[in-house]
Amino acid sequence: MGMATKRIAVLTSGGDAQGMNSAVRAVVRTALDKGTQVYAIYEGYQGMVDGGERIRELGWDSVGGIMHIGGTVIGTARCEAFMTRDGRRTAAGNLIKSGIDGLVVIGGDGSLTGADLFRQEWPGLVTELLARKQISTKEAGAYPSLAIVGLVGSIDNDFHGTDMTIGADTALHRITEAVDAITSTAASHQRTFVVKVMGRNCGYLALMSGLACGVDWVLIPESPPDVENWQEVMAERLQAGRKAGRRDSIVILAEGAHDRNGNYIGSTEVQKALEERLGEEVRVTVLGHVQRGGRPSAYDRILGTLLGHEAVVTLLNARPEDEPVVIGIRNNRLTRLPLMECVRKTKAVAEAIAEKDYQKAMGLRSSSFTDAFSTLKTMVRALPHPLTEGVKRFRIGVLNAGAPAPGMNTASRAAIRLGLDQGHIMLGINNGFEGLAEGEVREMDWMGVTGWASRGGSMLGTSRLVPKGSDLYAIARTIENNDIGALLVIGGWSGYQAAYNMTANRDNFPAFNLPIVCLPASINNNLPGSEFSIGTDTALNSIVDAVDKIKQSAVATRRCFVVEVMGHWCGYLALMSGLATGAERVYLNEEGVTLRDLQIDVAKLTRGFEGGKRLGLMIRNEYANSIYTTGFMCSLFEEEGREVFDVRPAILGHLQQGGDPSPFDRIQANRLARLCLEFLIEQCSQDGDRSAFIGLLEGQLKFHDMRDFERLVDIQHQRPRQQWWMDLRGIAALLAKLGPDEK
Ligand code: ADP
Repeated sequence: MGMATKRIAVLTSGGDAQGMNSAVRAVVRTALDKGTQVYAIYEGYQGMVDGGERIRELGWDSVGGIMHIGGTVIGTARCEAFMTRDGRRTAAGNLIKSGIDGLVVIGGDGSLTGADLFRQEWPGLVTELLARKQISTKEAGAYPSLAIVGLVGSIDNDFHGTDMTIGADTALHRITEAVDAITSTAASHQRTFVVKVMGRNCGYLALMSGLACGVDWVLIPESPPDVENWQEVMAERLQAGRKAGRRDSIVILAEGAHDRNGNYIGSTEVQKALEERLGEEVRVTVLGHVQRGGRPSAYDRILGTLLGHEAVVTLLNARPEDEPVVIGIRNNRLTRLPLMECVRKTKAVAEAIAEKDYQKAMGLRSSSFTDAFSTLKTMVRALPHPLTEGVKRFRIGVLNAGAPAPGMNTASRAAIRLGLDQGHIMLGINNGFEGLAEGEVREMDWMGVTGWASRGGSMLGTSRLVPKGSDLYAIARTIENNDIGALLVIGGWSGYQAAYNMTANRDNFPAFNLPIVCLPASINNNLPGSEFSIGTDTALNSIVDAVDKIKQSAVATRRCFVVEVMGHWCGYLALMSGLATGAERVYLNEEGVTLRDLQIDVAKLTRGFEGGKRLGLMIRNEYANSIYTTGFMCSLFEEEGREVFDVRPAILGHLQQGGDPSPFDRIQANRLARLCLEFLIEQCSQDGDRSAFIGLLEGQLKFHDMRDFERLVDIQHQRPRQQWWMDLRGIAALLAKLGPDEK
């Protein structure tokens, strides 16, 4: 057993990224909760070298109200001094003087490389400090090693070993907002736009925003155009797109883009190449620091929070001989990976690009990256590939079902285009199962889904009908009349139930013996077999946006808000928005609400307000308790807190179902649609009739047999029996405490 870490410090270094503040908050509160003192080192490594006022102890309240702020409130810098041994020795001395022997470093690969070197050198630095009499023998003995945990803060999402870096999701928000805006003006004037986004050695932002916004050409560093005359090819493709009916052309360019020979491709090159060939004006937008700015997205707030918490837990359990780790996330599970190995693999991508070994560069990227690139290459086509002789063509139906969920259109578009490209006949079914019963089936064409990538709501139309009895007859007839060979259901609870009913009635209706797959699309995130459904991230962001505004409206008073959010009986939106906004309390149907709970909550609110707090935030799931309604809670709190604070309800309602899909929802929609289509085609080619639903569950993306539906769900409450996010309640409760001593 090694010695326990005595004091922790946290610093942010390198480029700033949205979500860093959530990480700092979680580090500070988790450490305090565990009885460990915690310091902030201001201005990154520069502050560590400077010492003095730049290394300050933080208390519970000092990290209140920072989650919604972009950038980093403890400052960041690039530091020349820390690149030298002298600088690092001075820094070590400053840490020892402050009694710090554990460090959470939040930064990019540069900062994490520096951290690793610092830790390796530590014993030597201590010896030198002692020799120079800058520390005492006792101090030298008390600080034999430095424990380090790294978190990746980087908008580029360029780090090996984690699906997402802190800040990348928000950067995607900024880019998609901008590209959506540009698209609308470009379409009005039939113009061509070139948009340049960040990413020196990483095309993540360019690729994913390109896919998310349905743009027409993307240039990324890992996979430059595979032809010498890329300008010709690009211009031809854009022209063909126009001829096929597109009203605009949008090109996204990563800042590290280049041709196969390594020659830089800047926005001017693209602009010139296109103006010469298209004979029209081409506008350039360089997004620049806008991508780093603005309020962090819900995802980045939650990611920062979970990583910050895990960093402290890891640090407090570290033994001196342990290699430093970086905490990341993979398929929605936190990971601890050796820091240096991840840095090495990250740098390997840049090296492969520099050596023009693009196959290797792409090989080092994740499968979701390479799949996304392959999807993108199909989606940007002006027309599908010509039919290949002898390929069997299947008739695949696509429908939306249940309440509209942002991202349904993105998924429909992806499935329809990817299917058409492989020669299949894609049938759009209007108005969900109702339309299927009424025979509302039409053949879709390539340009018929233009613009769907970024549009909220449901273009195909959706309904909540769960077919029974005579509906089933009607549906069987439509399937037979239209010779539908497979069915993709993009929908929520009622869509799943409908697909389940069809499958369960196969004996009575031979027409139902076709492959069916359900793609989870519901803001409630209450579907089995999937940790995320499409639409839920958009809804979460809508809630977080609304709560940020509600909070601002209350700066001058002592006020408690009871915010009611959707979700039916599933508390996902309530808990996650609570985590992302720092709510004091979240009420879930899963946990129930008792009068005793409410009494405790009133007492805590009163204590908080008496202690100087100005705002209280309670988030209540819409069906948390049918007796203790939002109105009831407000009246109770108001009456009990009369002298101390007032109370207002905020029922967010349908704004949660609307809006354009978030980048995350669009990316997932593309990914899942592709997999679902592959599933259906494979089934059709084998004369199979599997009926399934897809999702990411316990670290794996897989298909679940439709017959498992009832086994996996609590039918009465329309939610999965096992809900992964319930494990996050402890962290939410910890961070919402009034102080470390509160029970
Ligand atoms: P990022 O962390 O975002 O990649 P930088 O590469 O600019 O950003 O690194 C931030 C800071 O981390 C540098 O200014 C320097 O202080 C420190 N740093 C980076 N690389 C090293 C290194 N090899 N050795 C020591 N310190 C480093």
